[in-house]
Amino acid sequence: MKFGTKAIHAGIEPDPTTGAIMTPIYQTSTYVQESPGKHKGYEYARTQNPTRDVLQNNLAALENGQYGICFASGLGATDAILKLFKPGDEIIASSDLYGGTYRIMVRVFQEFGLTFKFVSLDNPDNLKAALTDATKMVWIETPTNPLLRIVDIRAIAAITQEKGIQLVVDNTFASPYLQNPLDLGATIVMHSVTKYLGGHSDTVMGAIVTNDEAIAQRLKFIQNACGAVPGPQDCFLVLRGIKTLHVRMQRHCENAMQVARFLQSHPKVSQVYYPGLENHPGHALAKEQMRGFGGMVSFTLHGDSLPEAVKVMESFTVFSLGESLGGVESLCTHPASMTHASIPKEEREKNGLKDTLIRLSVGIEDVEDLIQDLKQAIG
Ligand SMILES: *Cc1c(COP(=O)(O)O)cnc(C)c1O
Repeated sequence: MKFGTKAIHAGIEPDPTTGAIMTPIYQTSTYVQESPGKHKGYEYARTQNPTRDVLQNNLAALENGQYGICFASGLGATDAILKLFKPGDEIIASSDLYGGTYRIMVRVFQEFGLTFKFVSLDNPDNLKAALTDATKMVWIETPTNPLLRIVDIRAIAAITQEKGIQLVVDNTFASPYLQNPLDLGATIVMHSVTKYLGGHSDTVMGAIVTNDEAIAQRLKFIQNACGAVPGPQDCFLVLRGIKTLHVRMQRHCENAMQVARFLQSHPKVSQVYYPGLENHPGHALAKEQMRGFGGMVSFTLHGDSLPEAVKVMESFTVFSLGESLGGVESLCTHPASMTHASIPKEEREKNGLKDTLIRLSVGIEDVEDLIQDLKQAIG
């Protein structure tokens, strides 16, 4: 089955009791048993819920994985993955990382004795140099947030496989429509479903997909033991969102390409970060590893004046200023004060994230209106 057909049909059957084509919202906390221990496979809704089961199977199919597990948020999924490890275990993460991922690693799990190293992994040789006997997992994002660097999943996976350790790829920015990390050798793919998968800015959710049965069992155990499950209504909304994922992603990619080209030609813009541009350092790799370049574009203005960048962000009328991304509507974010504020300023600047960087999540509106809005806001 090809992607669009899978998005609409994989794992989804008409409801067996009524034939309803849409998966029902099983809004229940418990299930009636005929006799103690004699039930229909469902005991308590933290452990199992039919609406969630359907979504999990659908997501697993989209990532070409066998096991899908949904969580109450992307960070709920990250939390479960980090609980696979023990004090003394070392995790190497790419230095260009979602702020909340950095925060849970350093401010929560470091307190419990895990150790973290943040390394620039757009050069895989840096990983080889950083590995130690204590390293148990490598965590990457690609394209990275907010600088849209491209990390070579296949090259990183070759190193982690040789060492017998796990590779986690946060695939939020690409979505399974553009990239399937498990096919390239990753052990676990993680998503903030809140973003492109949900696609309508109306749900917070996370997901993990893997082909490793032992890891899937352990993650399911952790989910049930620790409790970060999504509600059935949210699962329904995401199932509905995913039915148009392929159509939305096509338009996100087309619009972002035009926005990036417009910004590149604008005299006030100093730098545009978009992997679809030929002069982007990761362009060739993105072409090979992804099926499109995505909907995220970042840029800076000449002069690097923060008040000027703020004025642009305040002047938008179609783009809305807000955290998050991946919805049908265009958003703009100021990473330094919003998504990445939890990373210390000197750490941010070391990684090339300037305080004047503006990040766009290009939506699926008519692109002429988006470009007009950029024109009037930048001036
Ligand atoms: C939003 C986001 C997360 C966190 O997900 P939540 O659903 O907000 O908990 C993790 N990684 C990336 C790349 C994100 O954009």
